[in-house]
Amino acid sequence: RGGFAPEAARQDIPILHRMVNGRPLVWLDNGATTQKPRQVIEALASFYGAANSNIHRGAHTMAREATEAYEAGRAAVADFLGAGAPEDIVFTRGTTEAINLVAQSWGRANLGPGDDILVPVLEHHSNIVPWQLIAKERHARVVPVPLTPEGEIDQDAYADLLSSRTQLVALSHASNVLGTVPPVAQMTALAHRYGAKVLVDGAQAVAHLPVDVQALDADFYAFSGHKLFAPTGVGALYAKPEVLAAMPVWQGGGNMIESVDFGETTFAAVPHRMEAGTGDIGGVVGLLSALQWLTSFDRDAVAAYETALTGYAQQALATVPGLEVLGAAADRIAVLTFTLAGQDPAAVADCLDRDGIAVRAGHHCAQPTLRHYGLESAARASFALYNTSQEVDELVAALLRMQRGR
Ligand code: PMP
Repeated sequence: RGGFAPEAARQDIPILHRMVNGRPLVWLDNGATTQKPRQVIEALASFYGAANSNIHRGAHTMAREATEAYEAGRAAVADFLGAGAPEDIVFTRGTTEAINLVAQSWGRANLGPGDDILVPVLEHHSNIVPWQLIAKERHARVVPVPLTPEGEIDQDAYADLLSSRTQLVALSHASNVLGTVPPVAQMTALAHRYGAKVLVDGAQAVAHLPVDVQALDADFYAFSGHKLFAPTGVGALYAKPEVLAAMPVWQGGGNMIESVDFGETTFAAVPHRMEAGTGDIGGVVGLLSALQWLTSFDRDAVAAYETALTGYAQQALATVPGLEVLGAAADRIAVLTFTLAGQDPAAVADCLDRDGIAVRAGHHCAQPTLRHYGLESAARASFALYNTSQEVDELVAALLRMQRGR
């Protein structure tokens, strides 16, 4: 058992071998963004060095090659998410843009006065604010679904809040603060009984859990490449084909049309009609490479390794006097947000940084979640498959030194 060794991933990530403030880097800010394998960096360099072209436009060799690479990226994303077809995938700048696309397109067409959008309190701002914006415009309501003290979505409250008014449930597959992995398939099935659609924010989940959008029966699934070992600036939206086909266009421009005339303009088929303008072609090439890299490992073994590492980190952190980890969800990803009695989270992060240890401090773009615990700020250590128990030991040793006043 435990068929995954982090060194196998570590050796591919050049940045993990740099020094920060005179100490070897310990990167525990994977929830914000992940580090990139050499394979991804090389894919970007070889695209720009030898294959750069716009796509779909010119009838020349390199345009054809770039188009093939872009569409291979789409097929790889579909495969990675368990989607039925590449056409179910729309490329976006990331999770935030994917959610805004659904809000502005599907939301504007389907929400009206008296409609509810259910949003658990543990959502990231990017899965709250786009719904507030479209709800205001359409005179609909955003209804928060409360959390239990453990940081799980209160399932009784959820069942009570669902009604024939519910048009959409927007929930994350994993929380970026508490690590909570809600029972998404079960919650989706319940929402569907009321005829509501379900959007799943996969930003934090994709690097940690194998995803199958059809098994989840999600109507929408959004993620960002950069949290998945790919470059920034590229991500994707999955939508069920019948839902996507019925969605109005959201941005106009090149690439998304069939024919343009001042009398009448007609649009290309999905997914292209949702991708106005030149996309991040190089980014898609990088994303394809990142997916190949990640799926070259046994994902169940990776998940088991990360669960063991998280358990180890929880036990080790419990030895630090005054340290409290937020939330105690039964199912969680490798994210540990904590407070240290008498210490400002920003000072904790600053102190760790002097030892070359990168953690994030602040509200983590999830202010309602922190306020659930009466906090405005906390420190967060978030792990990836390349982190080790030695790095956990270094984190804990640094925190103990800090508590002792060095
Ligand atoms: N949702 C969650 C759960 C996240 O953790 C993040 C990134 N912190 C986002 C959405 C937004 O992702 P991006 O900024 O890449 O669009």
